[in-house]
Amino acid sequence: ATMPPLLAAIAVAGRRGVLLRDATVVEALAVVDAVALDKTGTVTRGRPELVAVEPLGHPDTVATTARLAGDGGRDGVLALAAAAESGSEHVLGRAVREAAAHLRVPAAAAFDALPGVGVRAVVGGVEIVVGRPSLLDGGDHPTARAAVSRHEDAGRTAVVVLVGGRPAGVLALADALRPGAADALATLTATVGTPPVLLTGDAPAPAARIGRELGVDDVRAGLLPEDKAAVVAEWQGAGRRVLAVGDGINDAPLLATADAGLAVGEGAGALAVQASDGVLLRDPLGSLPPLLALARRAQRTAR
Ligand code: ADP
Ligand code: MG
Repeated sequence: ATMPPLLAAIAVAGRRGVLLRDATVVEALAVVDAVALDKTGTVTRGRPELVAVEPLGHPDTVATTARLAGDGGRDGVLALAAAAESGSEHVLGRAVREAAAHLRVPAAAAFDALPGVGVRAVVGGVEIVVGRPSLLDGGDHPTARAAVSRHEDAGRTAVVVLVGGRPAGVLALADALRPGAADALATLTATVGTPPVLLTGDAPAPAARIGRELGVDDVRAGLLPEDKAAVVAEWQGAGRRVLAVGDGINDAPLLATADAGLAVGEGAGALAVQASDGVLLRDPLGSLPPLLALARRAQRTAR
């Protein structure tokens, strides 16, 4: 007996490193006419590196940082950030921990992941928060804001470190595009018939820079996880069938909402995989055009 075409497509995709949940995913992929891509970890390598640590120098936070981390300057801010990130699955968290590998990182407790925002933990009874610059929005923090803008204008992702609710430092991280990403997206655009849209929780300036490097015009920045899903739901309301690709816990709502949601395998958190219809084990962007072509052929044969 020959294998039904949709199942045969699942087997072929599997050999190419794309694990699909079931035959309905092949049917969904066959009719996709819009693509939403997460930025960090999806079009970028997801291996950001810490490129700068800027202590903000407020006397209160310097004293608290020194008490908790044994240093009130750069090393202290980085050590506290790494302590808060010690429970983080996020690629930015991993980068911060790696950069602090040579430091004595104090013990932290009461970890809390704030998807699309950052992390929170307690060190020596003091709350440490590391996350997106919008965490500054509650107050007037000119020094912190200036540092954030400087790094974002240079195309870096800026993250703030709050110690006891006050900004103590700004970290800057840089993540390179996946090799071949621009070519892969050009092929994807030709296959789907419409260009992909980039969705990110990162700030507008670094997001726009990645968009320019990729040749993607439509870039939506500053989104929370549910905002990414809302973009897809809006397209679906207009009759479009959406493929979404993401890697993180912050992409779970996006992947669950899309007609076909695929998780990037290497870095993907368990929650992203659970919310997805399949996993891209290697070359996540380059594998999309042949995957869509395969699904269309299978669907035609099945009919
Ligand atoms: P993306 O949509 O590009 O994958 P996320 O939604 O995961 O990005 O994160 C959005 C922003 O939230 C990041 O640019 C960063 O400012 C902040 N953020 C999220 N998680 C963390 C973390 N663990 N440590 C520091 N900052 C974080
Ligand atoms: Mg991501």
